[in-house]
Amino acid sequence: MKIRKGDTVEVIAGDDKGLRGTVHRVIPGRAVLRGRAKKGQRQVAMDPNRTRVVVSGINLVKKHQRRTGDVRTQVGIIEREAPIHISNVALVCPHCQKATRVGYQVLETGSKVRVCKRCHQTID
Ligand SMILES: [Zn+2]
Repeated sequence: MKIRKGDTVEVIAGDDKGLRGTVHRVIPGRAVLRGRAKKGQRQVAMDPNRTRVVVSGINLVKKHQRRTGDVRTQVGIIEREAPIHISNVALVCPHCQKATRVGYQVLETGSKVRVCKRCHQTID
């Protein structure tokens, strides 16, 4: 996954274009595969095209929260973040502070790290 929880990202499309925030949550997309599944089972695979992220302060929606039995539930109109499609955000490089594309580099230890395509510094 090129974008992870805790990353700073910049919105590159939509109403919040140009804004930056921190990734709270990555919601991996799942696709149900057709055929070849055993009876009663569904074959499910990762679908990167459906992956969404929740970013602090980005894509705010007003939610009308009805009173529930739970007194801890905030009632009324609540503004909260809605998930945004991962293709609409770009990672902000912690080194050059620019919105960038992400590459990968395999270390001698065999582990893979993310690399900024602009300044070529490792991100992780
Ligand atoms: Zn960079």
